[in-house]
Amino acid sequence: MNKITNHMPTAELQALDAAHHMHPFTENAALAKKGARIMKSAKGVWLTDTEGHKIIDGMAGLWCVNIGYGRTEMGDVAKRQMDELAYYNTFFQTSHIPAIALAAKIAELAPEGMNHVFFAGSGSEANDTNIRMVRRYWDIKGQSEKRIIIARTNGYHGSTMGGGSLGGMAGIHAHGGKIAGIVHIGEPNWWEQGGDLTPEDFGLLRARELEAKILELGVENVAAFIGEPVQGAGGVIIPPSTYWPEIQRIVDKYGILLIADEVITGFGRTGNWFGSQTFGIKPHIMTIAKGLSSGYQPIGGSIVCDEVAEVLGSHGDFNHGYTYSGHPVAAAVALENLRILQEEHVIEHVQNVANPYLWKLWKGLEEHPLVGEAKLVGLMGSIALTPDKAKRAKFAAETGTVGYRCRERCFANNLIMRHVGDRMIISPPLVITPDEIDILISRATASLNECYAGLKADGMLVSA
Ligand SMILES: *Cc1c(COP(=O)(O)O)cnc(C)c1O
Repeated sequence: MNKITNHMPTAELQALDAAHHMHPFTENAALAKKGARIMKSAKGVWLTDTEGHKIIDGMAGLWCVNIGYGRTEMGDVAKRQMDELAYYNTFFQTSHIPAIALAAKIAELAPEGMNHVFFAGSGSEANDTNIRMVRRYWDIKGQSEKRIIIARTNGYHGSTMGGGSLGGMAGIHAHGGKIAGIVHIGEPNWWEQGGDLTPEDFGLLRARELEAKILELGVENVAAFIGEPVQGAGGVIIPPSTYWPEIQRIVDKYGILLIADEVITGFGRTGNWFGSQTFGIKPHIMTIAKGLSSGYQPIGGSIVCDEVAEVLGSHGDFNHGYTYSGHPVAAAVALENLRILQEEHVIEHVQNVANPYLWKLWKGLEEHPLVGEAKLVGLMGSIALTPDKAKRAKFAAETGTVGYRCRERCFANNLIMRHVGDRMIISPPLVITPDEIDILISRATASLNECYAGLKADGMLVSA
């Protein structure tokens, strides 16, 4: 078995994978028949599989490889840190240099007044922390009844019990249930749900559901509202311009805490350090993970505003933490990632080069007969597939059927572009160049053409 990493043929690797490896969010029996595509190495925006195909990664892994693959500085830092101090905890009045340095660096980059970091191993864990943190905060303030967290349908906040419950995905709730004290309001998804309203009016309508829900539950029972500045896993749903200002007004009016889940939108994805800056949001807590280390090490956390941190830190222990909170190797690697993002002006590249260049071509996809709207903020984008643009119609086939077919064409054309229902989504490494964007768009166009031809041949260009 020690030869697994070397020269085993793809078919044998696939057989072992099928026999022993349970994949997340996957029907393993179906995958076992088909065989997983096995990645072997990567550099920049390019993946290489075990068959030697060069695949352009339009998803930065799972929205995380912001600096691109293959940066050897990251491994150098990891090795140095492992040799120096491979592990120590931060529970019992101890600390270590990487956790200190990373917390201070994050505080420097975070919006004004957000100067404290509680570390976790992932985005899901960080959101579980947030649930306990906001409830504990209100306990200390003498308002123990304030326990409910309002979240949104089709939001994604991870897949632990807490994270999965905050998320508004019925498929996740169906597998294992949902913890108490979390309620959901509608999502600002104008394309699917806006009807005859303008996007701006629909944005207000959805935001005002928060106010209605607070009044229905009683503000004395509501701890916090959580939302992603842009829903990622929900399909890259960029909210109408009216949405976040109205949410902010309501949160301020009723004095509940605001949690911005920045796991995807943090660290440059939207063209600023944080999505909250792009959308003018003033959160009390921001969830971070993914781009924090560009996926080179598993690490997440909560960036906490001064007031919440002070309340939490001055009334006895907060009985919560993870063995790997602030893990020294992960923290050192994250710090190196932030250095690269900052010193190589990666976020300026997104703002001044990659976003404007991609936007011209991405918007151009709206000319394709299969594409309704094309949306992009920074380097996260989506296109809605539709049989009838004028009506923003759904396909007669079950939702996701067409999206899956399109994704399969992309995969065959060595482009990673995911589908969420019948929306295609991209989130490439932030270092993608204009030449690489050209390749991404030409493969996406070829895949859309093939998908369209296939739907036509199978008589599937039919509205629901
Ligand atoms: C991915 C994601 C999470 C969960 O992060 P994990 O590291 O997978 O646990 C939480 N929130 C958002 C917005 C995400 O995209």
